[in-house]
Amino acid sequence: MINLEDYIRDIENFPKQGVLFKDITPLLADPKALDCCLEELIRLTERQKITKVVGIEARGFLFATMMAKELGAGFVPIRKSGKLPYATLKEPYSLEYGMDVLEIHEDAIEKGDKVLLHDDILATGGTARAAAKLVEKLGGEIVQCNFLIEIEFLKGASKLNKYEVRSLLSY
Ligand code: 5GP
Repeated sequence: MINLEDYIRDIENFPKQGVLFKDITPLLADPKALDCCLEELIRLTERQKITKVVGIEARGFLFATMMAKELGAGFVPIRKSGKLPYATLKEPYSLEYGMDVLEIHEDAIEKGDKVLLHDDILATGGTARAAAKLVEKLGGEIVQCNFLIEIEFLKGASKLNKYEVRSLLSY
């Protein structure tokens, strides 16, 4: 039996002083943990009908793509400003210091698409909320916001309270 928490490494003071970073690379590097994690993330979806899995740059892409394949859905990337080549819709969001912008290709979601939004970590929730707004502006319906890890004390789920939020691990 695999305990996924054993494969998450805490890195102190990364990317800056005072932050405890959850590093998922040990989990990605172990084939059994990788397989178990994918299976568990799929279980969280309860196999609801999903037509698109939207992953948030960059670590969100990893499992979002695998989940899309497993669920028979398409994969759609949401990226930071200036990375997507085609015409995009943009959504600004606040970071701890300052602002950033997320983008999605304007033809990536069809009206009525059933969307599973995925990222590796739910921290303050600003990133996921901006991503959800982009999906909805294109006419997609968020079926679930799905995370590998939720940092509970940062209360990100409260920014996503109109959605179903599910996380595999909570700290
Ligand atoms: P939020 O907007 O919820 O504060 O931050 C979530 C975003 O920051 C996610 O895209 C996630 O990848 C990244 N992030 C924040 N903290 C961590 C962390 O401790 N570990 C990892 N792997 N990513 C983090």
